[in-house]
Amino acid sequence: MELPGGLLVDGRLRRDYRFKPVTGELERVLAESGLYTETLPEQVTRILTASLQQVAGQPVDVDRVRALSAGDRQFLILQLEALIDTGPRWITAHCGGCAEPIQFQIEPGNLPIKAAGQGYPQTSITLSIGEMDLRAPNGGDEEFTSIQDADQGTLLHGLLARLLSELGRPVDPQSLSGEDMEVIDQTLDEMSPQAALTASIECPHCRLSQEVAIDPYACIIQETGTLDEEIHTLAFHYHWSERDILQLPRGRRARYLQLIDRSLGKYRADDLIQDQQGGLW
Ligand SMILES: [Zn+2]
Repeated sequence: MELPGGLLVDGRLRRDYRFKPVTGELERVLAESGLYTETLPEQVTRILTASLQQVAGQPVDVDRVRALSAGDRQFLILQLEALIDTGPRWITAHCGGCAEPIQFQIEPGNLPIKAAGQGYPQTSITLSIGEMDLRAPNGGDEEFTSIQDADQGTLLHGLLARLLSELGRPVDPQSLSGEDMEVIDQTLDEMSPQAALTASIECPHCRLSQEVAIDPYACIIQETGTLDEEIHTLAFHYHWSERDILQLPRGRRARYLQLIDRSLGKYRADDLIQDQQGGLW
């Protein structure tokens, strides 16, 4: 698989990427990323910096992850979700017609993706104030807009000041007309890569066909509980350190947990302890 957008390296667009092996350490970064960051875009940067081995043939650091387009970042988080949790994701929504809950499945790693269009990641456009360069929004722009405490209009101007330039010099967004804004909007739409973040479903209760939004970042908001329990079980039985356990690939961790289950005749240590306590109470 390739990035739907990619990064310019020495004038050439490169779309290759590689994740590090999925270990407990990586799952912990994902589960706890919110503890150290203020906003979702900062969280995404943190997770991708920790999980990517390489992108566009380059080593990965915070700045390179910020340089990835917004669509590439969504795509990568969905791919990471598919690597960590190979099963489908269940989504519950409420029908727009009868308000009954509807459940359906998606495969995060196989959502349709619109690849970047002509001109990506930076193209020239003709506006009322002349010929300008317009760049597709990236992670740095997402972080910028997420940390500003400002109204929508000020935010938009701040964003446009980052995306628009004339021969490398910034442009004053105040000088743009309504038509200019339409041209910018349409150009960004065509140029930017984008994951399909809606699903077409039919309500099983009232048969209404509707579009339901898919959150590309749903896997980021997870509990650390399961991972903590697994670490506890492995540490308890094998006397391994937490650090060693977190370095195990997910598959091997699952295998050791199975072996423990088997050696206990399907009983988990916790169950045994609970049973014993049950006798005393
Ligand atoms: Zn319905």
